[in-house]
Order: sequence, then structure tokens, then C-alpha cells
Amino acid sequence: MARITFTGVSSGNLGDHVGDEPGTVEINRGQLLTQLSLTKIQYMNQVHGNEVVVIDSNSSGIPTCDALVTTDKSIALAVLTADCLPILISSQSVAGAIHAGRKGVTNGIIANTIHQMAKLGASDMQAHIGPAICANCYEVDRKMYEELVARFPELATENSMNNLDLIAAASSQLQGLGLQVQSVDICTKECRDFFSYRRETNTGRQAAVISI
Ligand SMILES: [Zn+2]
Repeated sequence: MARITFTGVSSGNLGDHVGDEPGTVEINRGQLLTQLSLTKIQYMNQVHGNEVVVIDSNSSGIPTCDALVTTDKSIALAVLTADCLPILISSQSVAGAIHAGRKGVTNGIIANTIHQMAKLGASDMQAHIGPAICANCYEVDRKMYEELVARFPELATENSMNNLDLIAAASSQLQGLGLQVQSVDICTKECRDFFSYRRETNTGRQAAVISI
């Protein structure tokens, strides 16, 4: 049974790339590790790309990628967000963590991760989408809206603004790959218990953590 956790503001900032004191981030990460009784949480240097990295007991350092997968039960995987979608993939024998913002929803990172997990033997995958910006709060300019909706119709919304529905588009991709999808349905911009880049710009990062 996979263990899944979504942190919020109360766990402090867990991102070491957003101008916070490195010491503070280290303390917050240490507290999370203790709180969850884990021995290792693997973070990544997220770059809005479509690289997936397999983590095992020999892995060291922080890989530059936007998804992590592992078959090692002693390693938890983390994705850091503040509006982007954290997508955790559970299965009996493989865990996955995906960072999927607007770029991730359109660059193939979701399918890449599911394929990599299948290669490692996952057959019963389920997706869990954590707190993320909702369609009502995610407006982009008209040109971007038209370009992206032409390629990914699931991103479309029906209001008169140029709002994209990242959660619907990600869910559709996951379902298309045969997964059941659960979403916590919490909007980071509207709920102040979570960090939101759109609400604050200079803000912390929450973590979505999974281990098998
Ligand atoms: Zn919202």
C-alpha cells in the first residue's frame, strides 16, 4: 500500500530554490522526514521538462528532471509545487512522482512516467493529484490559450476568460493511459493553507511525497 502525503504552509517551505535561507529549508525537510518516519526523501531539480529518472539505492545527489520513479520501498519521492500539479502514481511495486505545470501537461512527462513505471513492472497504477491551481484561477493570454487548446482540447474552459484547466487535461491523459485518477480538489491560489505562486509570486513550495 503506497503512502501519500501532501504538505502545505504548516510544514514550511520545502523548496531550496526560492530564495529562502538554506538552513530553514533543511530544518523543514528534516522535520518532514521525521514526521513521516522515512529514511530518505528524494527531491529533484525541476525544470518543466519531460525527463524521468529512476531512483535506487545507488542514486545520489539531486537529479535534474520532472519525474522520479522507484521500486525501492525505503526511498520516498517528492515533487515540489506552488500551483503546478503534483501527480503521485501508486502501484504495488513501483512509485512515481510527477511535476506537471502547463508545460508538463503539454510535453509528455505524464506518459513518459507511466511508460517507465510499466517497464519496471507496475501494472496496477493509480494517480493522485494534489493541491494545484484550479481552472477558475488559471488565466493565460489569448494567444497561448488558443495555441494550447488547439493541441490539447481538454485544457479548454467555457468561461469568457482565457483560463486553462490543467487538472482536466492531466486527468484525461492519465485516464487515456488506463489509470484511475483521484484529485484532492484544493485550489492552491484560493486556499491559504497552501503556497501559491500566482497569489504571492515570492513564495515557498509544498511537497507531495510518495513511497511504496
Ligand atoms: Zn482556484
